[in-house]
Amino acid sequence: MGKHKSPMTWKAVRRIPLAVNWHMISACNYKCVFCFAHRLPGKPLCNDIKRSSLLLENLASNGISRINFTGGEPFLCQTLGELVLIASRLGMATSIVTNGYRLAEEMGTRFLEKYGRHIDWIGMSLDSGREEIEKILGRGYGDHVRRVIKAASKIRKIAPHIGVKINTIVTKLNYMEDMHPVLEKITPDRWKVFQLKIVPGINTAASYLVPTHEEFIYFIDHHRDLNPIYETSIDMTNTYIMMDQDGNLYDETDNGYRVIGSPIEKPIHELLERSAFDMHRYIKRGAVYRWYRRYDKKSKSI
Ligand code: SF4
Repeated sequence: MGKHKSPMTWKAVRRIPLAVNWHMISACNYKCVFCFAHRLPGKPLCNDIKRSSLLLENLASNGISRINFTGGEPFLCQTLGELVLIASRLGMATSIVTNGYRLAEEMGTRFLEKYGRHIDWIGMSLDSGREEIEKILGRGYGDHVRRVIKAASKIRKIAPHIGVKINTIVTKLNYMEDMHPVLEKITPDRWKVFQLKIVPGINTAASYLVPTHEEFIYFIDHHRDLNPIYETSIDMTNTYIMMDQDGNLYDETDNGYRVIGSPIEKPIHELLERSAFDMHRYIKRGAVYRWYRRYDKKSKSI
């Protein structure tokens, strides 16, 4: 830590919009071989709605503009809808990153009908247009592609203001794939492509799947017309503000995770000063874009 720290002072950057990723639950209904969320520190705070509200209030009052509810699988948190609603009323842009399994079901329809107008973005994981590849990766049970297509079309129908984002992880298994056909069916508003990243001690077993830099760029080069926003494993390091299940800020380290502290106890800027988060590289990776897509009174545009 420290050696990556930006010389920019936190006072000077208070006006830069910040997004926090809350990995609110490590449990998931999938078992992806490269998952780095299954050993997140803490216990799910989301079950305690009072304290979760306090956490969101503290983030909003300390200038956080966007909250991304992720996991694990955030739809396994019973309180997800309520927390989205609270964050939206606090004026934050809201997004959810999910594997899409539950969104494709009847409960997904009910969720979108009830909470859709408080959501700005929904990101779904899709690494391949081929069901057999997703199954080998542990991403679902052989019908993941079909479910993501179904969930995307449901979002368009029920809450068309929501931005649909697709997250693709490039591995040895898919770097040669042409994803045009499946993406033409989904027409995402944003497509993010990541080089598989290994967090030592967490998903080391998936090291055999890591593509070389050349293989990763090969995938990007074959999809440039779709404007992918891509990040190598180096781009991803220290450029996300991450909270664990307990709502504590944490860093990735050379041997797992390091918990920094709770934004309930201390202002987030104070915690960020003690973390390895790098504001310069956060901006450089294009973290700030059109976060607000809903049009309620509190929405702002960035
Ligand atoms: S869908 Fe995401 S959280 Fe679930 S196992 Fe796969 S990588 Fe992990």
